[in-house]
Amino acid sequence: AAAAARLCSGAGGEAEAADGDGAMLRHLARKLRASGPVTVAEYMREALTNPGQGYYTRRGGVGESGDFITSPEISQVFGELIGIWCISEWMAMGKPNTFQLVELGPGRGTLTDDILRVFKQLASVLSKCDVSVHLVEVSPKLSEIQAVMLTGGKVQPNPEDKSAYMKGVSKTGIPIFWYRDIQDVPPGYSFYLAHEFFDALPIHKFQRTEKGWREVLVDIDPEVPDQLRFVLSPSRTPATQNFIQPEETRDHVEVCPEAGVIVQRLASRIEKDGGAALVADYGHDGTKTDTFRGFRNHKLHDVLSAPGTADLTADVDFSYLRKMAQGRTATLGPIKQREFLKNMGIDLRLQVLLQNSGDTATRDQLLQSYDMLMNPEKMGDCFHFFALLPHHRLVHPDKKDKPESKSPLPPVAGFNELLLK
Ligand code: SAH
Repeated sequence: AAAAARLCSGAGGEAEAADGDGAMLRHLARKLRASGPVTVAEYMREALTNPGQGYYTRRGGVGESGDFITSPEISQVFGELIGIWCISEWMAMGKPNTFQLVELGPGRGTLTDDILRVFKQLASVLSKCDVSVHLVEVSPKLSEIQAVMLTGGKVQPNPEDKSAYMKGVSKTGIPIFWYRDIQDVPPGYSFYLAHEFFDALPIHKFQRTEKGWREVLVDIDPEVPDQLRFVLSPSRTPATQNFIQPEETRDHVEVCPEAGVIVQRLASRIEKDGGAALVADYGHDGTKTDTFRGFRNHKLHDVLSAPGTADLTADVDFSYLRKMAQGRTATLGPIKQREFLKNMGIDLRLQVLLQNSGDTATRDQLLQSYDMLMNPEKMGDCFHFFALLPHHRLVHPDKKDKPESKSPLPPVAGFNELLLK
C-alpha cells in the first residue's frame, strides 16, 4: 500500500501547515471567546463529529485517497480472518440459530464486506443460522459509502419498523441496519467489532503539577488571532476528580470515558444475551502518556491547527477498557496484531492466495500488504486485539463441582491457534 497507516504514536511524516476552509476554527474561536476554554474531549468531539463541520461528518478520511489507511483497507485477508473468528466463536458457543454482526465505526464498510464474503463461502456451515448486520455510524457521508459498498446503494432511509436510520440488504442477501448509537441496536446474541473505533473517541488529558492534577484545556491564543493553544485548568475539574486514580504514577494521563461507557454497554449485552466483542486498535496497557495525534493526507498534523480537516486520535488504553468491563465478562488480550493474525492462519491464507494468483503484480501486492499488517516495525506490533467473552466461554460454570464430567472448552481462536473442525 502506498499510503501510510496511522502507525504507533510518533511515526509518520512532518507536521503540515494548515490550510483549507476555516469554518470549524471560526466556530470554535467564537465559542471559546464567549465561554472560555473547553476540555480536549469537547474539542475532539467538535472537530471529529460536529454534525455540520466535523471531520468524519464531512470528509470521512479512511482509505488510500483519504488521510489514513487501515488494516481492512490494506488487505482482504484481514477481514476474512475476522469473519472466520466470528464463525469459530459461534461454533464454540454451540451454534445458536441466530446472530447479529455489529460493527462500530465501519469506515468505508470494507471489513464487514470481507466478512460477509466469508459467510457466503461458508454458507453450508451457517445454513441454519439467521444472520443480520448492524452498523453503528454517526457520519452521514461514511454511511453512504458503506451503503454503496455493501448493498450497491439500494437502501431505505428511516425504516418504520426499526430504530435504525437506514436499512438495506447486502449483495449476499443479508439484512443490514444503520444506527447512530449502540443503544439503538436490538438486543440479542451478537458479535461486536470495533476496528480503529475507540481511538477516535474523545479523550480527556491530565497533567500532574506541583499543585496537584490539572486538566489540559483548549483555548484561543490571545496573541495570535484564530490560533488555538493548550492551557491548564486553574484548579481541579470534575474530570480530574473522577478519572485520576489515587495510585497513578504517570505525570500525564489520557482517559476516554466514552470508550468506558461503550465497553460497559457491550459487557452488559454480552453477559445478558451472549456473543463476544473484538476490539482491534493501537494502544497500550495503561503505561503511555501523551498519544494525542492528528493525521492529514497520511502525515502527522498539529492537533490544534485547522480542526475538522484532520483526523484526531489517541492510543486506546486497554487496561481502562478491561476495568470498565467490570467483571461482567471475561477479557482476553491485548495481543499483538501479528500474533493474532498468525494464530488465525494468515500464513496459510497467504500461500493459497499466492498460488491462485497468476501475475507478479498481484503477488507483489499480496506480499506487501502482508508485510504491512505483520511486520513489527509497521502494524504488526503496535496494533492489538482485545476481546470480551462470556465467563462460561472460558470456564465451565460448574467446573469446580464436577471437573471430569465436561469436555474441555475449545480455545478462543486468535488468542490461541485456530482449530476448526
Ligand atoms: N473501522 C474503520 C474506520 C475507522 S475510522 C476502519 O478501520 O477502516 C472511525 C470510524 O468511526 C468512522 O467510521 C467514524 O465515522 C466512526 N465514528 C467516530 N466517532 C463515532 C461515534 N461517536 N459513534 C459512531 N461512530 C463513530
